[in-house]
Amino acid sequence: MASEKELVAKLVMADPGLPRPNPTQAYWQHVPHALANAQSASLPTDRDFAVIGSGITGLSVAKTLLERHPAATVTVLEARTLCSGATGRNGGQMAANVGEEYMDLAEVHGPEMAGNVAKFTFRNLEMMRELIEEYDAVETSEMQNLRKLRVFLTEDKFNDFKKSIARLEADHPSLGGLYTILDRESVFKDHGIHGAAGGALLPAGTVWPYRLVTKIFAALMKKYPDRLAIETNTRVESVEHSDSFATPITSVFPYTVRTSRGPMRAGNVVYCTNGYSGHLLPQLRGRIHPFKGTMTVQDPQKAMPNQGTSVSWGFHYPPRYDPETRICGQGLYYLGQSAKTGYFYFGGEEARMDETISADDSVVGEHSVAHLRSVLPQFFGRNGAAPWKLVSSWSGIMGLSSDGLPLVGRLPSTLTGRTGTGEWIAAAFNGYGMANCLMSGEALALMILGEDVSDWLPDAYGLGEKRLQGTLTPPEAIKALSANL
Ligand SMILES: Cc1cc2nc3c(=O)[nH]c(=O)nc-3n(C[C@H](O)[C@H](O)[C@H](O)COP(=O)(O)OP(=O)(O)OC[C@H]3O[C@@H](n4cnc5c(N)ncnc54)[C@H](O)[C@@H]3O)c2cc1C
Repeated sequence: MASEKELVAKLVMADPGLPRPNPTQAYWQHVPHALANAQSASLPTDRDFAVIGSGITGLSVAKTLLERHPAATVTVLEARTLCSGATGRNGGQMAANVGEEYMDLAEVHGPEMAGNVAKFTFRNLEMMRELIEEYDAVETSEMQNLRKLRVFLTEDKFNDFKKSIARLEADHPSLGGLYTILDRESVFKDHGIHGAAGGALLPAGTVWPYRLVTKIFAALMKKYPDRLAIETNTRVESVEHSDSFATPITSVFPYTVRTSRGPMRAGNVVYCTNGYSGHLLPQLRGRIHPFKGTMTVQDPQKAMPNQGTSVSWGFHYPPRYDPETRICGQGLYYLGQSAKTGYFYFGGEEARMDETISADDSVVGEHSVAHLRSVLPQFFGRNGAAPWKLVSSWSGIMGLSSDGLPLVGRLPSTLTGRTGTGEWIAAAFNGYGMANCLMSGEALALMILGEDVSDWLPDAYGLGEKRLQGTLTPPEAIKALSANL
């Protein structure tokens, strides 16, 4: 029988496949947007930009291209319904994770680059709020500005976190004061959380991402009816590049994007395909891999006060592995509360590796859901209480990179296997898309249009040879995923 590590190696290198046609239904999408199944009568061709993927990254790329170029034509291609990937299936948390990561980032990339990542993610969260306000989407997206309480369930985790924050603040005094460290008593007495070794508060928010993204797509369709096409239920099956198209008429459309609705020629191809990227770009397999998350909506039915306008929560514990059941706890639970209904939106991963390193969101693990139902009341000291009412449960596919950082930039031929220079990617947000995607998409679009974004897009997100040979490799992914097996 293959060892668990061999299994992990096989899973990260596997073809994630196309987005599954029959995903579990996410609560966020229970009222589909009018554009959910948008498509033209026939697939338009000869477009300047083919953007693959209609999540928040695809939205950001398309929006920036349309706004910053006076004539560019953009087609957004989506395998399923609009915004049906991770963005429409996530936890709704707008929070940065750089506090926990800072120490490691500084070790690998140096304090300056680690600081750039910190500033980028906090700025991205501000930009999310600005975008929500600009599009008059505060109410629709139920956006809340609040503080996130990060709870550490073991002393070791808490101590590592405190060291990381101390170093962040020492290296970058301008970031000082974002985190308020809380001791065990305060987490219990002031915040009612049981079982913590300590915690920290940081500025954050919650949002209904599906409603936000679909609302902005609708506004863009209205503003740019002749330049934007949204083609849902259109799977991109392969991409080809050919110099033989170099006739006077077609020379600017060297790519043929083969879809389930026929071919489309394009000048550039932009992959906003997150956990599925390795399907169309096999050289990315193992550098990016899918990671399946489980979400629940639970109704405490008046057993808990509604804190949805003031706080959200994250619970951190050391990742664990049970050799008997082969179930891994991946180290994090995340929780927000609807200010309107009081429902808890609660997610976390507690499943076997073959269930977790997976791009199949057509099933949600029964064990994972039962686990999420059993632990949530306990955090609030409701031990032994019956589980709260399960309103909804679903799964969704994140994109994880072997070094924990997004990939944003032009794809080199070594990754596409093609000679052209018009393929681009923004993917692998490692479970923190709301803190990264908007500005990553904007940066990518501006790069495509020839602008220099190097003073604000962290260089560590780029696709340089050093990263491709160093940290962004399948062995690094296998090492990271096997660390606790
Ligand atoms: C369960 C879960 C909980 C999460 N919780 C949070 C959270 O609370 N906070 C946070 O910040 N982040 C969270 N994330 C991560 C966050 O949702 C993602 O990082 C972010 O949404 C990624 O956006 P994206 O646009 O890059 O990718 P996606 O939203 O996944 O969009 C990619 C799209 O590409 C389409 N696609 C892929 N391949 C093809 C193809 N060949 N042809 C056509 N279309 C294709 C897919 O169908 C999909 O719609 C969570 C993710 C999951 C799954």
